[in-house]
Parts: sequence; structure tokens; C-alpha cells
Amino acid sequence: MSRSNKRHFFNKVIENITIAGVAGEGKAIARHNDMVIFVNYGAPGDVVDIQIKKTRRRHMEGEIIRYHEKSASRTEPFCEHFGICGGCKWQHLSYDEQLRYKQKQVTDNLERIGKVNYPFDLIPILGSEQTQFYRNKLEYTFASRRWLTPDEIQSGEEISNPEALGYHIPGFYDKVLDIKKCWLQPEPSNHIRLGIKEFAIKNNINFFDFRTKSGLLRNIIIRNNEKGEFMLILVLFSGEEENRERLLNFAQQNFPEIISIHYMINDKQNSSIADLEPVHFAGKPYLTEEMEGLKFKIGPKSFYQTNSRQAYELYKVARDFAGLKGSEMVYDLYTGTGTIANFVARQVKKVAGIEYIEEAVIHARENSAINGLDNLVFESGDMAKVLTPEFMERHGKPDVIITDPPRAGMHPDVLKQIKASEAKKIVYVSCNPATQARDIEILSDSYRVKKVQAVDMFPHTQHVESVVLLDYEPQRHEGAE
Ligand code: SAH
Repeated sequence: MSRSNKRHFFNKVIENITIAGVAGEGKAIARHNDMVIFVNYGAPGDVVDIQIKKTRRRHMEGEIIRYHEKSASRTEPFCEHFGICGGCKWQHLSYDEQLRYKQKQVTDNLERIGKVNYPFDLIPILGSEQTQFYRNKLEYTFASRRWLTPDEIQSGEEISNPEALGYHIPGFYDKVLDIKKCWLQPEPSNHIRLGIKEFAIKNNINFFDFRTKSGLLRNIIIRNNEKGEFMLILVLFSGEEENRERLLNFAQQNFPEIISIHYMINDKQNSSIADLEPVHFAGKPYLTEEMEGLKFKIGPKSFYQTNSRQAYELYKVARDFAGLKGSEMVYDLYTGTGTIANFVARQVKKVAGIEYIEEAVIHARENSAINGLDNLVFESGDMAKVLTPEFMERHGKPDVIITDPPRAGMHPDVLKQIKASEAKKIVYVSCNPATQARDIEILSDSYRVKKVQAVDMFPHTQHVESVVLLDYEPQRHEGAE
């Protein structure tokens, strides 16, 4: 279909179209003639009318405006903010169905992008036992004027309480949806957020105004551990002391679960906290999480997997795939604060971890020290620069490489070094099955897929973790030396 032909689809309604599947980004897909249409909140099997909102070169985007038939795979979303918030976009699909699509996302990518041929051991996806209140960290945004839902606008009622403390509307940094109850983090997470909001309004402490760039309160970050201890981090636009102290004292006195309080000053235009220095206000300086008797320090800015219980399951899969016997040299690439490295250290001779962020490496070393482990070393820097023949000479060649890269996957130089290492096994943990499959294809002249297991860390979202075991089996090409 030519571009101009497609353009006149804009705002047109396509009637009685069946939702055919779900796409990697979490949207549902429908097909009209030879065009793919992406829509939010569709379930495969729904028969709907779709209004086209965007036409692109190879696809269109639309909105479901009427349901003729609802799919049997649907379930009733439990959250009042579903459909506007954008946080848990798959709540309308039953959990079994969500797992089925996540598993499919992993195998489709391996087949299409990874060109992986069966047989390999495909272990059924590991669902999360907790499908609600599974997160240990949430960040909320203050806004002096909240985003009004279509229902509120239609009702025409006067808005008496304009402030918001909630989430950004997807794609809009300055539009904030006020959240009443969020189902992601255990209580008292909601109570803390609502309590802080009420106290600030009563005491005339200003919420951030995105238009005039003024107002004291910008964000709160709430973290918790499995023991039910909480950390509160307040992000403020200025160093104004009186209101900051009033608010933080209120939180400390009213929520005994909060054992660690920090604040940060953000006087920039953007809301990124990566470059901000946390200031310890009260209580303990950090939370401690435990896993199999191992302890991990969580500071206000530390990375820690956000679904702690399922992270434990993920790490067990990775360790299991590694098949450790006790004498191995293991590399843990993209080690973060050394969680996987510490987790396998007791079963091996030595672990070497590599991580970009210097601060995380310091925490990784501290974690090993707290746990009384002395067979770990960590180096910081860009993987492509740190993982070199000299590194392997210094620490010993790896028997097993565990790798857990960010969504972009691994750099070609890193893949080259992995091949050169001739490690017997690679355990590839990934939060992006597409880049994982791409990397596996690049490794395929030296490594063969043996086992695959998807793990769901984020129920009601399209995200999936994939763990793949690769064995060193260099391919001999005929005629090649
Ligand atoms: N395995 C850890 C963290 C995985 S997240 C855990 O389970 O907790 C991926 C990590 O890769 C992050 O800590 C990020 O800082 C690091 N990282 C991203 N790009 C990198 C690069 N080019 N070189 C080294 N580390 C990198």
C-alpha cells in the first residue's frame, strides 16, 4: 500500500476486525488487508472497531472504539487506574494467557532472530507466585495540576483538589495521573504516598508546577525489603529547609515501617535522579535484603532487581544452568552490585564481576565482605574495554560466563571476547529476548543453545526475562583450517 493511500486511513474506523495476537511491545495486533494495526488493550480473539490514529510506513496505530465480541482470554482488570495509567497494560489478560505470550515472545525471537534450531530443552515459563504487590521500589511524581481523566472532563464538575502524586501518563513527562491505589508495592506503600500528599496539601507545601517550574515537591521514591522495612527518598526542587523537615518528620513519626529516610535536591529542568547526591536524613543509611542467608545492601540509588522473590527464582535458574561443581572460574558480566556473583560464589573457586558503574562495584565489594566471601573480584568500566585477553590473563580464563546485559544486549567486541575465552558454558540472562536472540546468532559458530527458560518478573506487563544455556561447540566448516 502506498504512503498516500495509507494517509487517508487517518481517523477512519475499520469495523469488525479480529485481534490476532500481541506484539513484543505489549500492544495487540490486528491485520487489515496487508497492513498491521497496533492497538492498546486488545485481547487476541476480540472482535472490535478500530479508529486509526497514526499511519506509518509499515504499520498503523489505532484505538479500539467498540467491542463486538470479547475474547475468552480476557479477565476483569482489578485496578481503577487501568487503561489510563499505562503501568500494568496486560491486566485484561488472564495470567495464564500473559505467560503464554511471554513464552512465545522468547521462542519466536530465538527462532526468527536467533535462527536457533530445536532440539533444545525448552522449560516452561516460570510464573511469579505473587502477581500483585510484587515490586520493591516505586517512584511517584508531584504535580500542582493533575491530569484529568476523560470521565472527569466529561462530568464537567469543578475540580476542587487539583494536585497529583502519581505516575506520568505514558509519553508525557509533564502530565501526572493522581494515584489512589497502586497494586504494585506492598502496604504501607499506598498509605505513605497518600499520607504525604495529604500532609503537604494541608500545610500548603507546594507541588511542582511543570509550566512555571516552581514548587518544592518533585518526587518520592519508596523502597522496601522482604522483611517489610521501608526507605523513603524525597526529591525537592530547592534546599528550603523548613517544609522539608516538617514533611520528613511527619513521615518518620507516622510510618514506623520507614527505617531509612533520605532526600535529594533537584533544581534541574529534568527529573532524572542519576546525577543527584542523596542526603541521609534519619534512620538507617540503607536497607538490607537477604537471599539464602546472603545479605545485600540497598542504598537510596543502588540497583536491585525490583521483584525480589522472583529475582531469587531467576538466580536459581541461572545457577542451575551453570551446573557448578566447585572448581570453576566464573565471570559475572554486567554484575550490578554483584548479586549473581555473590549468589554463586560459595559453589565455585572464584568469581570475577564486571560492571560499568563504579558505585555499584563498590557496593558489590561491600556485599562480598558482609557475606564473608573472599573469592570474588570486581572491576569497573565499559565491558568492551574491560573484558580483554589481559583481563583473562590476570584473573584466569573462565569456565562459565554468566551474563546479564541491559536491554541493548552485548557489544560485538564483547561477543568476540566471549568466543575467544572458549568458556565451556555461557548462561545468558536477558530482559530483552530480541537482542538476546541477536547475540546468540552471533555466537552460533562457537556456542549451541542447550536450555531455555523464561521467567516472569513483571506480571501484567509485557516484560519477560529469558535465561539461555549455551555450550561451547565450535562448528567446523568444511575447507576451513
Ligand atoms: N546482574 C545484575 C544487574 C543487571 S542490570 C543483577 O541481577 O542485579 C545490567 C547492568 O549492566 C547494570 O548494572 C548496568 O550498569 C550495567 N551495564 C550497562 N552497560 C554496561 C557496559 N557497557 N559495561 C559494563 N556494564 C554495563
